[in-house]
Amino acid sequence: MADFSIPTPALTRWTVDMFLAAGSSDEEARLAADHLVGANLAGHDSHGVGMVPRYVNSLLEDGLKLNRRIEVPVDTGSMLICDGMRGLGQSVAHQAMTLAIERTRQHGVVAMGLRNAHHIGRVGHWAEQATAAGMVSVHFVNAIAFQVMVAPHRGAQPRFLTNPFTVGIPRPGGEPILLDFATSAIAQGKVRVAYNKKVEVPAGALIDADGRPTRDPAVMFERRAGVQPTFEEPGAGLGALLTIAEHKGYAMALVCELLGAALTGGETAQPRNMPTNHAIWNNMFTLLFDPARLGSTDTFGREMADYLAWVQSARPTDPAKPILVPGDPERASRRERAARVPIDETTVAQMDAASAAIADRYGRSPGPVSALAAPR
Ligand code: NAD
Repeated sequence: MADFSIPTPALTRWTVDMFLAAGSSDEEARLAADHLVGANLAGHDSHGVGMVPRYVNSLLEDGLKLNRRIEVPVDTGSMLICDGMRGLGQSVAHQAMTLAIERTRQHGVVAMGLRNAHHIGRVGHWAEQATAAGMVSVHFVNAIAFQVMVAPHRGAQPRFLTNPFTVGIPRPGGEPILLDFATSAIAQGKVRVAYNKKVEVPAGALIDADGRPTRDPAVMFERRAGVQPTFEEPGAGLGALLTIAEHKGYAMALVCELLGAALTGGETAQPRNMPTNHAIWNNMFTLLFDPARLGSTDTFGREMADYLAWVQSARPTDPAKPILVPGDPERASRRERAARVPIDETTVAQMDAASAAIADRYGRSPGPVSALAAPR
């Protein structure tokens, strides 16, 4: 698949203009573009501008709402429930995190639930908002879409989406530690890429419709002949992704579902809560605290620096691949992609189609993104 390469400022402008054309305020369009292009810059293309077509479909079906302000039905000062009102995740999560960070400055520690957000994208972005303010943050996130796709450990049918778990730790005098990953063995987007390229996925990532291990990505897209989807099992006849680390990843995904959604008053990923269209919703439970209020500021920074140096002093198994800390790969990607973002041909075509769909509905659009791209 030929990649295109788009200058970062032009891609950002295009993304801002897409959301403006769809009716977003200037602020919302800027938040969306910074987040989505930011995910590409961080190396997470699965959550970058390639999501714009999905968001456009959801918007045109009235699943995604623009210009929503969060509601705050529970507010005890340090405990907050924010309702995203199905608003653009890049905006409502920003609003909820801004409020939670402000409260963490006042109270030292905050528990915040964000429910009913449209897709909040790369969760690490929200941890980075916290670490930039000097706060530690821990995020448990569930997701809901028309179909679940990740099987519980020992299960042969899917019951989750890819529920991410994220932790941000500010590093005094250094770049933050950022743990930010899906609890599925590989991302759904990576299965699609393998299917399109007709290549196998790594072992241990997939099972077929009978629950048998497979490396064939087609099990996620080609329904077994003669099997019909039902309300209870929309994925009948399809395979499923496995969680990371067997029972441990399953347990993490379950905790994300229970804290992210059930606890916050959001919806868990069961048939009665699933949208029937392109909408993708997230619920997130976030714990935030100010490490300076724990009285260990000196030792925290020193101990962390010494410990990370000790960890990274281990002999690498491959000298060409040094030991990294979580957050390093994203920073390396940002340096590499600062000027231009690579985007695959299929995604560019989908983004062009999304722009045309916005022009059809609203009478304006930024035009095709392919016009900005040079084949690599
Ligand atoms: P991934 O497998 O690329 O793992 C990323 C994490 O691993 C990062 O913390 C990174 O710094 C760390 N890492 C990578 N290589 C490392 C190394 N050599 N040493 C130390 N740490 C290393 O991520 P993923 O599971 O594919 O998830 C990608 C993104 O998708 C995340 O940002 C996640 O938030 C997002 N996501 C969002 C949703 C949603 O519903 N909104 C769902 C799933 C995933």
